[in-house]
Amino acid sequence: HQPLQFERPPHVFNRGTSPPFTLLTALFKDLGKAKPPKRRDALSKWFHKWRTDVGNDLYPAMRLLVPQCDKDRAVYGLKEQAMAKIYITVLELDPKSNTATRLRNWKKPNFTESGTGDFPSVLYDCIKSRVTAETTLTIDEVNSLLDDLSASTKVQAQAAVMSRIAERCSAEDQIWIARIILKDLKIATKENTVFSVFHPSAFEIYNSTSDLKQVCWKLYDLHCTANNEDTEIQLFHPFQPMLCKRPRRELQDVVKLMGRKEFIIEEKLDGERIQLHKRGKEYYFCSRKGKDYTYLYGQHVGTGSLTPFIDHAFDDRVKNVILDGEMLVWDPVTEHYLPFGWLKPAALNKSDDPTKMHPCFKVFDILMLNDQRIYRWPLHKRKDALRKVFQPVPNVLEYAYETRGRTAKDVKTELERVMDDRGEGLVVKNPDKPYVLAGREDAWLKVKPEYVDEMSETVDVLVVGADYGTGKRGGGVSTLICAVRDDTMSGNDPQQVIFSVNEHADDRARSFLSFVRIGSGLSMSDFEEIRQKNWREYTPGEELDFVKLADRGTEDKPDVYIRPEDSFVITVKAAEIVTSEKYAMDWTMRFPRCRAIRRDATWEDVMTVKEIHDMRTGGRKR
Ligand code: ATP
Repeated sequence: HQPLQFERPPHVFNRGTSPPFTLLTALFKDLGKAKPPKRRDALSKWFHKWRTDVGNDLYPAMRLLVPQCDKDRAVYGLKEQAMAKIYITVLELDPKSNTATRLRNWKKPNFTESGTGDFPSVLYDCIKSRVTAETTLTIDEVNSLLDDLSASTKVQAQAAVMSRIAERCSAEDQIWIARIILKDLKIATKENTVFSVFHPSAFEIYNSTSDLKQVCWKLYDLHCTANNEDTEIQLFHPFQPMLCKRPRRELQDVVKLMGRKEFIIEEKLDGERIQLHKRGKEYYFCSRKGKDYTYLYGQHVGTGSLTPFIDHAFDDRVKNVILDGEMLVWDPVTEHYLPFGWLKPAALNKSDDPTKMHPCFKVFDILMLNDQRIYRWPLHKRKDALRKVFQPVPNVLEYAYETRGRTAKDVKTELERVMDDRGEGLVVKNPDKPYVLAGREDAWLKVKPEYVDEMSETVDVLVVGADYGTGKRGGGVSTLICAVRDDTMSGNDPQQVIFSVNEHADDRARSFLSFVRIGSGLSMSDFEEIRQKNWREYTPGEELDFVKLADRGTEDKPDVYIRPEDSFVITVKAAEIVTSEKYAMDWTMRFPRCRAIRRDATWEDVMTVKEIHDMRTGGRKR
């Protein structure tokens, strides 16, 4: 009963040969340029033309138009860096050549050329003068080449497929293929826009089945009507889970959005969102994005790292069920949950050795029970049903902890308790509301300490380095690496004008210690200002004379650095300060966000090591 392959009905077909790939790239270009209402028009005309000229099977085109929703092709496992390698092979470039270096360093700003931070644009710059081919590929051929690509794992095999693409594709159209592989077309058109133009029920079917094929084949014509069964969640078919909304800053806002009535408070668990479908002795697990993990957790009691240990826990009356929850990793030795990175190793542990870390599924919702779809029930009724489904198996299969609250103070108290336990935050849920597939509604609110002013730590730090960004933040420095001033060694008094003695730097302790990396909180205009500063290239392994970086790890190693006299101070807010070997300071901030650039401050004003220690021991807060 693994997800059944939905068969194409005989009345859904295309006539004759597949249209050229350029038909689709012309649409991509139109969508990228058009204003929002025109995008819908462009899509609608395009679908109409296909239905008239080609036939009613739009699946081959939709796979390329919303590649992020196509689950039928195995993952390519190709990110920008891997694609750069493949293209260096395809173009037979000398690895030391300028073009090869530019491809590998696609993130690095290069002010004479465009497109930094966006791999496909850099790729275009690199291939436009080398590729003379015209596009002769059809849409079906592109799909079949992408199938071949997803089936290859070695660079050589992948390069062979890309060469076949390159031989029959213009430089411009190769860029579209690169974007399809990276699953981000950058055409400013969200998947729900594409779905809603395709057919009014398309998004609904997609949310309940995560199956693009079903969407295309059941709604092959605008006149088709989806029946209830089509738009409903189904056993062994991944649905799009409900997500959380972020309230405005004040906790009062949470209370207001909950209608000032009693609400449910759950912990925001920091693992992987997993849905479990079970019928009789058969199990199916998949991720938020519909990735099938049954091979890891176990299809039946004889296999996997979870099913053998939970099968006995279900009530005999449960014939079938769909559960929603978070997969965590339990370490019996330290008696703690481990960070996200341990999920895969734990999921691969199929032994029953009680000392080994293993997965623990914490369940917080139920969508179907004994063939009855109950996800539209109010949450409190779903919770009642859920409690009857299984007897918890400690640290293996549990109900997610929950409590009730009414006031901002209740939320704050619970948040403090969770933070003391090293948690990430809370999810506050409205007990009267249904489960909304793919919804991000007021009914589920995520609350984190950094949203709550009085619960966060504020520190002024000096920016000492940065990494180049990608995507929206591409084209220059993006993530900032920040430091605090080391006032624990003599000679580190800023009054002694430390930066005039750089030539003696080796004799002295560095004046700053790396402390935190910040990726969020700054606006694009802040970045425009920051990018004008005097950044210098950092060579991996290089020792800087003004800041000590951690001995190991990459967390505080920048792409570029900036000297204190050229740099600036930022105010950072974070949930708390915790120990960390990843920074020279041996402490760092959890969930940091930049609140402001302190234009009035210089390196002399930043927080010092002693002050951070004071903060940790309950001393003053700034
Ligand atoms: P963030 O980056 O803040 O974790 P996100 O974009 O990944 O957010 P959100 O929609 O903000 O996702 O939060 C939903 C995620 O929170 C879910 O995918 C789930 O993995 C996780 N989560 C953890 N605990 C709960 C819970 N008790 N109820 C619902 N979701 C939870």
